[in-house]
Amino acid sequence: MPCALLQESPAPLPVPEPGPPPASTAEPSASVRGFVYSVETCGSVDGPGLRYVAFLAGCPMRCVYCHNPDTQNRAHARERTAGQVITDVLRYRHFIRRGGLTVSGGEPLMQPAFVRAIFEEAKAAGIHTALDTSGCLGDLADDRLLAATDLVLLDIKSWEPDLYKSVTGVSLEPTLRFAKRLESKRIPVWIRFVLVPGITDGESNICGLADYVGRLTNVARVEILPFHKFGEAKYKALGLPCKLTETPAATNADVERAKAIFADAGVSAS
Ligand code: SF4
Repeated sequence: MPCALLQESPAPLPVPEPGPPPASTAEPSASVRGFVYSVETCGSVDGPGLRYVAFLAGCPMRCVYCHNPDTQNRAHARERTAGQVITDVLRYRHFIRRGGLTVSGGEPLMQPAFVRAIFEEAKAAGIHTALDTSGCLGDLADDRLLAATDLVLLDIKSWEPDLYKSVTGVSLEPTLRFAKRLESKRIPVWIRFVLVPGITDGESNICGLADYVGRLTNVARVEILPFHKFGEAKYKALGLPCKLTETPAATNADVERAKAIFADAGVSAS
């Protein structure tokens, strides 16, 4: 999630209410509509195994290091039904049989009814489901959605509340509330943390996150994602200024230092 998002970027879309569940399972959720930015048919980094990754459009955050600013609104998205998404997923069923389906974004919980419909269809087809989210809209993920979710990739963008707000534009608290809810439901979580030199790499910031993660009982994996510069070209193409042009990419040494801080808290990070 590297590179920057700016004041000149489009305003966040309004956050939705959770959609009503389908009236019955007879005309299932397949007809629920949503906005898909893009898909990746053989993803290998967004969950276990080879995965079909659907990137949904829309995000209420404005992360300074966002490397996909074009996913933050629906301008570049296509409207699809959950059934159309699953039909396409099933074309790759053989390849993803040891992996599964990941729904990412943007922020997928901008469209909770759509995610729920996709996941319920996927589970009915025996496909492993992973939700890649910042957790800021976790309250919109109803119990039914979570019952159809096998894994959550939870991106905690910083530990210190003021820093979190300055990095993302929103409050940390909903993400932590979602993390505790996932723990109470024993849903496995992969924690992700973007390491940005000079911004999120402060010792107290990493330490606080490591301590918190070390106390959660449902964390299956912790990933440190080093900030990179690949997103800058996208900002240029979109005509948006990039806030982090002067910020260097995180080095291997930076990542090793962060891993050591996690290790001191008893957490093995990769
Ligand atoms: S949550 Fe992801 S898509 Fe949204 S602004 Fe942050 S990095 Fe970009």
